[in-house]
Amino acid sequence: MSTLEHWRTRAGDVEFDLRAVIAGERVASVSDQTFERISPADGSSLYALPVGSSTDVAAAVAAARQMFDLGHWANMSPMVRKMIMLGFADLVDANQEQLALYDSIEIGKPIAQAQGDLVGAAHIIRYFAEYADKAFGKTASTAPALVQFTRREPRGVVAAIVPWNYPAPNAALKFAPALAAGNSIVLKPSELSSSSALRLAELAVEAGIPPGVFNVVPGTGPQVGAALAVHPDVDFIAFTGSTATGRRLLAAAGKSGLKPLQLECGGKSANIVFGDCSCIEAAAQDAAQRIFGNQGQLCVAGTRLIVHESIKEALIEGVINCAAALNIGDPLDPETNFGPLASQARKDAVLGSCQAAVVEGANLRSGGGEALASSGGSFVEPTVFDNVGPDMDIAQQDIFGPVLTVFGFSDADEAVALANHSSYGLSATVWTRDLGTANAMVRQLRVGRVTVLAAPPDPSAFAFPMGAEPYGQSGFGVESGTDGFEVYTRLKAVEMHV
Ligand code: NAD
Repeated sequence: MSTLEHWRTRAGDVEFDLRAVIAGERVASVSDQTFERISPADGSSLYALPVGSSTDVAAAVAAARQMFDLGHWANMSPMVRKMIMLGFADLVDANQEQLALYDSIEIGKPIAQAQGDLVGAAHIIRYFAEYADKAFGKTASTAPALVQFTRREPRGVVAAIVPWNYPAPNAALKFAPALAAGNSIVLKPSELSSSSALRLAELAVEAGIPPGVFNVVPGTGPQVGAALAVHPDVDFIAFTGSTATGRRLLAAAGKSGLKPLQLECGGKSANIVFGDCSCIEAAAQDAAQRIFGNQGQLCVAGTRLIVHESIKEALIEGVINCAAALNIGDPLDPETNFGPLASQARKDAVLGSCQAAVVEGANLRSGGGEALASSGGSFVEPTVFDNVGPDMDIAQQDIFGPVLTVFGFSDADEAVALANHSSYGLSATVWTRDLGTANAMVRQLRVGRVTVLAAPPDPSAFAFPMGAEPYGQSGFGVESGTDGFEVYTRLKAVEMHV
């Protein structure tokens, strides 16, 4: 394993190139306004990012449109497209250290986890590459002189707008299916984490994806994201981020050509633990991982622990013990497994939510304050609240930080009612060994994704998630899996009288 010294030396050598990648070239923004990116690890200034402009966006969309219309990528043999994408994934592996370092420096992600993210991103590219030659339509049974079938065609120019919490995997979840389907793409990374996306676009060209097919325009949401959303030559918007931004994009799409969208927004996921759970210690470790992993900055974080009264106290103590065992520290230290939040603003927001919860009457069992204050970074303690009212802000808002709220229940109906008492509906976890209970939960929970744990999760049993569609304010449209690939295609019906 690499050492802290190794990563510090590598970090000292990093030079950020924040120019857009348009038609395979680095292009400086026309904007002279900048956004200062502060290191979440120590509060130092990392760089000044140009906020971007509609002129930058217009150049990238024009490049994407031109390439799509020329058909060099869209009409390439799907098998060749697949092979090029597989080569792209290999290049991501070969450049893993550099890409992981960008993500770790920019958002404070512990370096070992950032490396894991890059393994995931390469895996996502390979997964969707395999769909390039498997975009099947259907054939109808008809009379002999009639042929009716459907075919799946690329949508055209895809605008992908993504957040910072998993910079490379979240970007890959958009660009990989979009590219596999033959689209051109303009990707806007978060202003908090631009560099890995920009480098990925360069690697795509190196792999053989024609310049102009995969473009990246960094900048802020109101400048770059908003301009992309209303651009008339964008055919589809794929978004991951907050519900507030999702709502703006929906309005923008409606006003500019009725663009179709896919929205993956906020969450407030329930982790329901029944009294027959196979192992309280494992359930505590799992609950801690679901809320403290990535410092709670995860859309499917298990923010609400809904636990049977008979085991509630034991489980809370188990989670608090796991929190105490976390190694909070410098993200560049390979031993660190809990880093800072991505920005000072995120830290202030999360601490503000904790303070408001105490005022509302929630019982602070652990954490609730700043950690490693002398570092100058944006560290927040892993936090556990008990005695939480289901309508309190801390129980309802998408805090996006390491803050667990605990609720007790006495029977399954109460557990379902608590879990469904949310405007979000991204995912849920259920610990039970009873098949009947599991089945009832799967059917009643209003979420896009349910994990049932009859046994402790096997960390080696990695499976790429099936496509799922969220409920409520968590968005709509499928992400991941076969169905998630099809989102990047349009269905054409063909009728031939022969
Ligand atoms: P955000 O909505 O502020 O930003 C997401 C992206 O949208 C960024 O690239 C941002 O620059 C851009 N953006 C912001 N304002 C815009 C505008 N007016 N027009 C166009 N684009 C704009 O979200 P965030 O703070 O980056 O990420 C955290 C949020 O994302 C949380 O709410 C979290 O739950 C959600 N999230 C959801 C998922 C999921 O899969 N459902 C995954 C990760 C994060």
